[in-house]
Amino acid sequence: MNLFSISTIILTFSGIIFSLIIYHTDRTNKVNRAWFFSCISFSVWALGLAGVTLSSTPDTAFIWQCVLDVGAIFLPFLFSIFVFELLHIQAKVFRIFLLCSAILLSLFSFTPFFKVGMMMRYGFEWVNPGPYYLSFLIYFVCYAVMSLGILIYFYFKTDKKDILRAQIRNILFAGIMGYGGGVTNFFPQFFSVYPFGNYFVIFYIVFIVYGVLRYKALSAKVISAQIFSVAIVLVSLFSLLKSTDLTDWLLNMLILVLVGVFSVFLVNSVNREVKAREKIEKLATDLETANVRLTELDRQKSEFVSFATHQLRAPLTAMKGYASMILEGDMGALSDEAKLGVSRIFDSAKTLTNIVDDYLNITRIELGTMKYVFDVIDFKTLIEDIVGELKPNIEKSGLKFSFTAENGDVDYRITADRDKFKQVIANLIDNSMKYTPSGSVTLSLAFDRPKRKFVFTIKDTGIGIDPEVLPHLFAKWSRAGNANKTNIKGTGLGLFVAKEIITAHNGSIRAESPGEGKGSTFIVEMEPWGKM
Ligand code: ADP
Repeated sequence: MNLFSISTIILTFSGIIFSLIIYHTDRTNKVNRAWFFSCISFSVWALGLAGVTLSSTPDTAFIWQCVLDVGAIFLPFLFSIFVFELLHIQAKVFRIFLLCSAILLSLFSFTPFFKVGMMMRYGFEWVNPGPYYLSFLIYFVCYAVMSLGILIYFYFKTDKKDILRAQIRNILFAGIMGYGGGVTNFFPQFFSVYPFGNYFVIFYIVFIVYGVLRYKALSAKVISAQIFSVAIVLVSLFSLLKSTDLTDWLLNMLILVLVGVFSVFLVNSVNREVKAREKIEKLATDLETANVRLTELDRQKSEFVSFATHQLRAPLTAMKGYASMILEGDMGALSDEAKLGVSRIFDSAKTLTNIVDDYLNITRIELGTMKYVFDVIDFKTLIEDIVGELKPNIEKSGLKFSFTAENGDVDYRITADRDKFKQVIANLIDNSMKYTPSGSVTLSLAFDRPKRKFVFTIKDTGIGIDPEVLPHLFAKWSRAGNANKTNIKGTGLGLFVAKEIITAHNGSIRAESPGEGKGSTFIVEMEPWGKM
């Protein structure tokens, strides 16, 4: 077997292997599919050529020559389709025309007008051209000019930064190698020159594989692994074909099989790794997009709630105001039944106002539009004021209620937004009464000297808090299972708002409870104003 035959066998195998590489990478891609078929025709051509050079009789060589011719005629056609797909050139009618020309020339290649038989050249059988064999050369050159021309045109048309330009460049090199090398196979029959270009044809494949895959995201690793594998398989194949005796052949065969198996494992594992990475990257970008969208939706929702609750506030204030005026007798005397009805209206309007306020605060917190107007206020006086305002409710509840503050020379001033801080403390006291059906509510205010903090404690003997609920108590919408029994109107927003506001005051809030039915204690700690 001479070097030329070996080169043709290597071309056959490389055509098959490389076509499979690209097809395996992504077979849904039209460019890859076009390349696959182009490679198949390449392999058919190379196989035909191998058959011709290895044939011992002119008759078998002629049969292989027929295979070679069909492969060689379809090859330029399929290469041009590959170029069309890569550059998104539709040209449907033109494609059909090209296909028809390839089919017609293939049929013509079986006639004696195309080839009359085989003749000996450079130690192997070579085609003996018929009177119209020149048509093949013209066909070949026309395709070369068209495909390479289109590639050159698009190369200059494409933006320098576009990866397509780099792909086109590689495919252009491939085309020049393929057509340049392939055309020398016409030399023996026309000019009696050795078809030396055949050795370069391998670069056609290598350049295209590189061109198609190189600039695809993340596949550099796979390509390197694949090219490396193909290279060692080809080297082993080469050694096998050059074997001098049976032992040598068997040994080389064994090496080839081992190398082949190893290559498949290597390529597959690298491929899997890259695919997994691609998947993760895709998921990450998807997640990022979804996150941006969700954040925007959340913002829109908060804005809507803020708007809607604002609209609710004004009518509620009117309802509360008029109900209170009626109750106080400003609009004339009322029967006891009417008084009961109006006081229910008043209570409901008040509950609704609290709920609306909670929603408003939440949306302000979420939108980051919560504004604080800090002032120096007296913590003790603030609590006394709240207790004074809640007096009717305390009396109605029948609970034992007390408030004690550490006496002495304590200065109870703190820095706070009076309205917001008052709302939080009032809400905590209100909660302790709501969730205490009977028993007592004890408030105490003291100054913890070592900690340099005011400690305000609200201790009740009410329904208590399940230890499992405690860690989540200050989260949004958090309501314990036992809360509904005593207060069905709750929203689970008050404590969340309280924590946000107190944190904004550099203070802290926490809850303690020995368990359900065993009462609860809420502790608020605040920094004093100035030095103490
Ligand atoms: P709401 O009272 O509207 O449900 P809050 O945020 O004020 O919302 O309170 C959240 C939950 O914390 C309540 O539903 C209740 O389960 C629990 N909770 C609050 N204060 C007390 C308390 N003093 N005793 C027992 N449970 C309480």
